[in-house]
Amino acid sequence: MSRIAYVNGRYVPHKDAAVSIDDRAFLFADGIYEVIEIYDGALIDEALHLERLQRSARELRLNLQVRPGALRLIFRELVARNKVIDGHVYLQITRGAARRDHVFPKSGTPCGIVAFAHSASRAAAEAKAHKGVSVISLPDIRWKRPDIKTVSLLPNVLARQQAKEAGAYEAWLIDEQGFVTEGSASNAWIVEPSGCIVTRAASPAILRGVTRTRLFEIIAHESFAAKGLKVEERSFTLAQAQAAQEAFITGATSLVLPVTAIDGQKIGSGAPGPVALALRAALHCFAPASR
Ligand code: PLP
Repeated sequence: MSRIAYVNGRYVPHKDAAVSIDDRAFLFADGIYEVIEIYDGALIDEALHLERLQRSARELRLNLQVRPGALRLIFRELVARNKVIDGHVYLQITRGAARRDHVFPKSGTPCGIVAFAHSASRAAAEAKAHKGVSVISLPDIRWKRPDIKTVSLLPNVLARQQAKEAGAYEAWLIDEQGFVTEGSASNAWIVEPSGCIVTRAASPAILRGVTRTRLFEIIAHESFAAKGLKVEERSFTLAQAQAAQEAFITGATSLVLPVTAIDGQKIGSGAPGPVALALRAALHCFAPASR
């Protein structure tokens, strides 16, 4: 089956999908994106992703020119045409194509809209979660607005590649004060011996993950509160993470993924922790799924 992508108003075979070399995302990384999980053919937490997209656009003064309703239709069309049961839909919106100039193009320049969907194996993802992953730490060398979900991801790409070359899955980024900000493509969490679940507070220093937002709701639910679990938004150091009972990462592609080692240091028993696995199992019970 040939894959179908959406490019500026048309559904085209993925292999023929192309954008202009004048597109500002190509020239300046002047664009924003979202990645939404598809689970059982439904879009998970679509509304939160579309809200964040609008926020990213506002922060960059990018006129979206497309309503959320139209984007929802494109997503469904891509899920259907590509017969995706489990996977992800990727959406990118750019400031459009115009003669290369750092200054914004004239108003009314159509924005560039590209979207595609692909399948991912649920079984493989579950197997990875039950094995756990390792992370390495690296300096956070990103710009000062990683809270905006832009396609400008070069430091993230370099970090993820370095992690891979070190035999790890993810890189946790460390700010100038020695605190963990987040992963190169995920939010970072630890579970302290007290049962306190800790993640960095939302600020311009991190992307406010949709999965992160959903986890706050889950942890507050009585079934987790009854286990004595609570969540705190505060900074933690690498040493605190290495001394934690558990660690995990969250994101639309990783969901809740247990971290079993940081810079070669075992976390807890060195096996995926019960809190991370329980949160992973709860995620799809709480997150709205829309078709
Ligand atoms: N932080 C970064 C840098 C990311 O790239 C991502 C996802 O791509 C996340 C956090 C997690 O965000 P979400 O849960 O919305 O996927």
